Amino acid sequence: MKFAKLAEYFANLEKITSRNEMTVVLSLLFKAAEQDTIGKICYLLQGRVVPLYESLEFGMADKMVIRAIGEALNASIGDVTKVFKLTGDLGFTVEELRVKNKELRINKNTTVIDIFALLHKMASTTGEGSQDEKIKLLAEIIKSVDSLSARYIVRIVLAKLRLGFSDMTMLDGLSWMLVGSKGEKERLEKAYNVRPDLAFVAETVKAKGIAGLSHIKPNPGTPIMMARANRLSSAHEIIEKIGQCAVEYKYDGLRVQAHYKRIKNSKSNYIKLFSRNLEDMTKMFPDICEAIKKQITTDSAIFEGEIVAYNPETGVFVPFQETMQRKRKYDIQSKAAEIPVKLFAFEILYIDGKSLLDEPYRIRKKQLQDVIKSGSTIVYAQEELVSTDEKIEEVFDDSIRKHFEGIIAKKLDGLYEAGMRGWSWIKFKKAMSKKLMDTVDVLVMGYTKGEGKRTNFGVGQFLTGVYDLKQEKYVTISKIGTGLTDEQFREFYKRVHKLETKEKPQEYDVEKLLTPDVWLKPGLVVEVSCDEITRSAVHSAGRVMEPSKSGKALSVKLAGFALRFPRLERFRDDKRPEDATSVKELESMFAAQSKR
Ligand code: ATP
Repeated sequence: MKFAKLAEYFANLEKITSRNEMTVVLSLLFKAAEQDTIGKICYLLQGRVVPLYESLEFGMADKMVIRAIGEALNASIGDVTKVFKLTGDLGFTVEELRVKNKELRINKNTTVIDIFALLHKMASTTGEGSQDEKIKLLAEIIKSVDSLSARYIVRIVLAKLRLGFSDMTMLDGLSWMLVGSKGEKERLEKAYNVRPDLAFVAETVKAKGIAGLSHIKPNPGTPIMMARANRLSSAHEIIEKIGQCAVEYKYDGLRVQAHYKRIKNSKSNYIKLFSRNLEDMTKMFPDICEAIKKQITTDSAIFEGEIVAYNPETGVFVPFQETMQRKRKYDIQSKAAEIPVKLFAFEILYIDGKSLLDEPYRIRKKQLQDVIKSGSTIVYAQEELVSTDEKIEEVFDDSIRKHFEGIIAKKLDGLYEAGMRGWSWIKFKKAMSKKLMDTVDVLVMGYTKGEGKRTNFGVGQFLTGVYDLKQEKYVTISKIGTGLTDEQFREFYKRVHKLETKEKPQEYDVEKLLTPDVWLKPGLVVEVSCDEITRSAVHSAGRVMEPSKSGKALSVKLAGFALRFPRLERFRDDKRPEDATSVKELESMFAAQSKR
């Protein structure tokens, strides 16, 4: 496919707001793409050149792109900046200037593969002189492509493509490509949860049709989307729901998925640690990596556990927030000594070429126990087989005494539900409040500027929201401000600074009267506790609309949700914005709260 053709699709997609229409356009694009191009198109649609779990970024700021545009189109930095001030977008800026430049010949044969290779080279350029090299490469591209292509290439390198859809919509598009409907979405999603690499999924179905997905299995090095737990509020409810089960402590730390491959005749074995949001954490835990080499007995494995920090003097486990201090990029060795950690391993998903995803819990757990040699860093998460409420409560009390968070009950014949919040795992936490059985993870969407003392921090109140999977939108649930310590305000400000954006992100559904002074791109998730969930006239989370009597406008059928007396508990750097509590979860928490 020629890149100019892809740019036309981008322009078309940018104009569409309806998700159904987007899906159809995507399916046409996927149909038109050749076997060797479809995967690259998937990455480019995400504004990337590698899958989401690889951290290769372009690292280009506005200033560098302005220089590249100037160099390519024989314009001064002043001229480019002038147009940029008018358009407010470097994509439109390069497009406008490219149209005006009649001297440069456009190479009409440039393919998606050509541009992809150059973009990949640009992102991979590091070290001394890399800025100049990147600018040179971008200028070369701008010189040879048409104006519309230039618009999108510039947005891609600036990480500002934002076509307004998620990986799920792309999977819908693939389903439409295959069968002209959403009919195959479920199978595509199942495969994606095991190999969350859209290019891989798209190339597989393009080559072999949907049947190609039946052979997909875990691949050491590609993180598997993690299974999540549902929640219940008493031991009694758990037994009622799943009967006899295994109960493990709910460790309060950082979840990791470890990928390990022993490389024969080499000292450097392959080890990767992924966080819940598929971020590569390997460098932050050299001690865990060392322990994996010593304590894992198989040639390859993918297993999961919770990293928990402890006080080296008292041996007492410390809360999540302190474990997260290890998640810094500098001073790692000294932090490792200051904040030692253990990995409580509770799952195994793959051993030596064999997938364990479809094996029941009791088999997986036995296999896990067999592959861990005893040692002090990696610890097998012991389970207790229980069949009564009293026994669950006993383990729960034990867990709290040991400074953990509660328990996770596991269905004995439950499979590993990659990427899902199913009933194979049920969490039962130390009650955060009398009415509500859990905290809520919310996305910080914007803030209003502070008044009085708070002007010192620059922030007064935060507008927060949750994820509505059906609409693929973030909907509001609460403003949070009171009750934050000075330290929390400072920390907030530091984190939100780099997320600021001039316009309301497309995927936000916010009532006008809640408009904050500053919008934030989806990026920061925080955990909040509150007294209860209430119904609210202003918030859009869980709100149900219906056509009004005149049939023209929509009116509110059921008011949205709000949090009563919200309090910040902690920053959830391990969660992606889509991992914020979902509207569906809120609905069931609200129902459970009413029952209680
Ligand atoms: P929470 O906010 O309650 O920690 P969460 O939204 O982060 O939940 P859930 O999937 O709902 O994630 O809860 C499961 C989490 O509990 C896991 O992601 C993991 O980090 C943690 N955990 C601690 N101990 C265990 C265990 N024994 N088995 C499974 N998960 C455990």
